[in-house]
Formats: sequence, structure tokens, C-alpha cells
Amino acid sequence: MSAPETPEKLFGGKPRIYPMRFYGDPVLRRKAKALSVSDTLKVPGFEAQTVREVADTMLETMFEQRGVGLAAPQIGLSVRLFVAVEYEDDEEENEGQDEPLRSRVLREYVMLNPVIKPLDKKKDKSYQEGCLSIPGIYEEGVPRSKRVNISYTDLDGVQRTLEAEDYLARVFQHELDHLDGVLFLDRLPAEVTDDHRRDLLKIQQASKNFLAHLGAWEKEKHLRENL
Ligand SMILES: [Zn+2]
Repeated sequence: MSAPETPEKLFGGKPRIYPMRFYGDPVLRRKAKALSVSDTLKVPGFEAQTVREVADTMLETMFEQRGVGLAAPQIGLSVRLFVAVEYEDDEEENEGQDEPLRSRVLREYVMLNPVIKPLDKKKDKSYQEGCLSIPGIYEEGVPRSKRVNISYTDLDGVQRTLEAEDYLARVFQHELDHLDGVLFLDRLPAEVTDDHRRDLLKIQQASKNFLAHLGAWEKEKHLRENL
């Protein structure tokens, strides 16, 4: 399991990727706020950026972490924004290979204020789910609608709607959950969380360490700037 190590140099200025927020971080439990394309966003530890800049860096972060989706709360921003990607082989069959993920991208999505309508009453539990904020833990059985309609605002401020099914529908539902403070483990029986208690405690501890580190950095920055 990868511990969220965050070297000092990651903070400040223009980020190449963002440090991830992990299970136990309160930002993952907050209901995120609506945003508009013209907003200025400040990811904790970094200078303010446009929504487009944040979305680009979120995509880079997602590729670096070999993910299929990343929601703003996972980088410490409580706004209703997520990025997601469809790969040529949409189930990451080649996971572990060194080929850059970005070369296999079919389509990237950046969604502001997404709203999902299920198009199927039947829930599908067959896929395995994981989460970049809960590294190393994967579980089947999370009930998700097989087909959804999703409306959102894109980076040009245009309101769009699309239909998604199977894997992509699941990704969108997982990411939307993040905007409401919900993690995939919440949608499984409590025993599943209990089964992973030891690993989750480790992740929580790492999360605490990260927040302490970030807090110390911001305090020091504040002092530096107010000399
Ligand atoms: Zn997730």
C-alpha cells in the first residue's frame, strides 16, 4: 500500500500533480458546493488557479495514480467537480504495464455540477470497485445503476447531457458520490469495512500525518508572508 508521502516541494506554486486526500480526511465527508467555470479555486498548499487549470492538473493526477476518475474532494477541494476517463480497454486490463495510460485514452470528461438520473431500475453489483482515496482496497458488490443519464456543465460553461452504461456509468456514480461525501465502502455491508479495519487505520494515520504536514506548511507560509 502506498503511503501518502508528500515532499515539501510539492506544495506552493504551480502543481504538476496534486497530493491525494485519503480515507479519514474530513474533506472526503463534506457535501461539496456547486461551482461555476469562472471561479478561482485554491487547492490547499497551492496558489489559486482557474477551474480549467485545476481540471487539467486533476487529470494529470488521475493518470499518475492510474485511476479512472478523480473528484475534487480527493485533492482537498470541496466543490462539485470531477474528472473521469474512458480507456480503449475500459477495464484497465493492462494495469501494471508501463505504457503511459494517456496513450490509451478514448475520451476524457470534466464535469461541473453533475446530476445523475438512473435509467435502469435494476442495480448491478458485478464490478469490482476501488478508490484512489482508499488505496489497496477493492470490493465487488457495490450496487450501481447499469445505465444513467448525466447532465453537467463543461469547461466552456456549456450545459451537456450524456448517457452512459456499465463501467462508465459506474465511474460517474462513484465520482458523484464523492461530491456528496460518500465512499464506496459506505454502500457495502458494515462487515466489509470491519474486514479492512487494520488497513483503514493505516490509511487514516497516513491521512492524519499528511494533514499535519500541510497545516504546518501553511502556518509557516503565512508567517513568511507576514514578516
Ligand atoms: Zn473514489
